[in-house]
Amino acid sequence: MRIDVLSIFPSYFDGLTLSLLGKAQSAGILDLRVRDLREWTSDRHRTVDDTPYGGGAGMVMKPEPWGLALDELASSSAEATRTAAAQTRPTIIFPSPAGEVFTQATARDLSTRDHLIFGCGRYEGIDERVFEYAASLGEVRLVSLGDYVLNGGEVATMAMIEAIGRLIPGVVGNPESLVEESHEDGLLEYPSYTKPSVWRDRSVPEVLLSGNHAVIASWRREQQLERTRRRRPDLLPEDDA
Ligand code: SAM
Repeated sequence: MRIDVLSIFPSYFDGLTLSLLGKAQSAGILDLRVRDLREWTSDRHRTVDDTPYGGGAGMVMKPEPWGLALDELASSSAEATRTAAAQTRPTIIFPSPAGEVFTQATARDLSTRDHLIFGCGRYEGIDERVFEYAASLGEVRLVSLGDYVLNGGEVATMAMIEAIGRLIPGVVGNPESLVEESHEDGLLEYPSYTKPSVWRDRSVPEVLLSGNHAVIASWRREQQLERTRRRRPDLLPEDDA
């Protein structure tokens, strides 16, 4: 998968060279390219923002650098596709507190795409016309990390790339570990324990030492339901609530 990121703070993304996503890039599974939006400015100050029409506090990101950057990145989309028959239009994601909420289902959906472009907003956000224009180049998604406001789209983009990236085949060594995780089956994950079996007077639940796989599986399912009921009842289907 190819992922392009547009940001005025590209060094935010240095952390994505570490750990599993770093290895995925070295192995050629993930082609992550972070670009400074200011590369597409032409004035001496490399300006990316201006005052809002209609007045109001803060600044708005100017459309011109975004238009040029998106033109260039979207035109290289064919190069990013795996087969000639595959899509040649990118999926363009703008992190936004006013977007659809990012979930595991969103991550799974986006992990099947050949080419993602993330556009990180700053200030009061991006001139609205950029989203309309981007729709002529690819599928546009405005995606929120949650119901709160961050200073910029970088942290949201990093979180999304990590959640999407670990679903790309080959990124996580043992694919089984993805199947049992929180949100994969609509429930939170069961509690996990490792050695020693007693630590600071706290014992691992007996059932996990029994060696009986059927009993362990049923205990884990109960724990998932109980934990989800207690912490996130909104996730439960009505029959289990
Ligand atoms: N004025 C905007 C509003 O009220 O919707 C908020 C702008 S915010 C200060 C600047 C940028 O941070 C946004 O353009 C977006 O890229 C990013 N951002 C802020 N909160 C976010 C969230 N919850 N999810 C995803 N991106 C977010």
